[in-house]
Amino acid sequence: MSDFSFEKYRRLVIKVGSSLLIGDDGHVHRRWLEGLADDVATLHGQGHELLIVTSGAIAIGSTILGINKRRVRLEDLQAAAAAGQVQLVHAYQEVLGEHNIIAAQVLLTPGDTENRRRFLNARSTLSRLLERFVVPVINENDTVATEEIRYGDNDRLAARVAQLVMADLLILLSDVDGLYSADPRQNKDAVHIAEVRQISDEILAIAGETRSDVGSGGMATKVQAARIATHAGCSTIVTSGAIDRPLSALAAGARCTIFRAEGTPASARKQWLAGALEVRGELHLDAGATRALRAGGSLLPVGVVAVSGNFRRGDVVSVLDTNGTEFGRGLAEYSSDEATLIAGCQSDQIEVRLGYRGRSVMLHHDELVLFGNER
Ligand code: GLU
Repeated sequence: MSDFSFEKYRRLVIKVGSSLLIGDDGHVHRRWLEGLADDVATLHGQGHELLIVTSGAIAIGSTILGINKRRVRLEDLQAAAAAGQVQLVHAYQEVLGEHNIIAAQVLLTPGDTENRRRFLNARSTLSRLLERFVVPVINENDTVATEEIRYGDNDRLAARVAQLVMADLLILLSDVDGLYSADPRQNKDAVHIAEVRQISDEILAIAGETRSDVGSGGMATKVQAARIATHAGCSTIVTSGAIDRPLSALAAGARCTIFRAEGTPASARKQWLAGALEVRGELHLDAGATRALRAGGSLLPVGVVAVSGNFRRGDVVSVLDTNGTEFGRGLAEYSSDEATLIAGCQSDQIEVRLGYRGRSVMLHHDELVLFGNER
């Protein structure tokens, strides 16, 4: 029995693979999905924020369009994904709707999590959905992603989403109940590994030899996903989803492997920002804004006295106090041209100055690290 408890985790990403969700008839396994929705509703009701990363678009689309998945070209799979995705997300909408939970479809490509400008866009949309108690249902945007620009598997997509939203727990629902010292299907002496504190070469090697039958991701992609997530301060669980209500089972002590996070999502993000090599500009702040940042707030345009450098949205910029001393770094929500236009401006004047509706903050506190002030 594992002693795992959901209690200390607030923001959860749940990854659902095709092998669990799609029945032998090639359609959504409705009863299983209803069970998952019951679990999601329970956790949601307890105050957890949830995001679901789901596969299944290609499998459902192949069924609807009569495509043989194993022997097709990329365009066929993309067409299948387009037809399948709409049914996939509709199924989630229905089962979550039974619990009065609103589902929102979000389709991502790697650029959305790896390019910093688009990363900010995706992050603020997802945060806004979570603030409104919506459950984002996320998949890769398969219809436009070609081989070279794909996440490739949804384990990795789920890890990137966890990093993006600073989740503290990622759950990879699998057809096996965790990591074993060898492939349990082939080796009777394989020992289950309940906890991984560090993803060593040995762990990667073990995972490389264990495959899952269906879907594109075996244990290797799960451990790689765990590596991305744990570095981002997000603990990762691999457990079996091949049962009804797998999240309740987990809460009741079902077997799993937990990969422990290194630090917290906030410390990981701040470490990354502090080490950013390319600082593209500087924001000179007034005393009020300096105090607000030190107290944990975000930077509003009104507190910016001057802007220097040449930067784009998503670039790293320094913040300087009234003495001109750098006291932190953050990801710019605005380009240097825009920042110059709205520096010193009250929030309700931003639209007038820019000519379009801008964002309310110049730097968001999640994307900000202050020196000599470890909060
Ligand atoms: N995005 C793909 C789909 O929805 C699945 C990718 C995966 O399972 O890793 O069909």
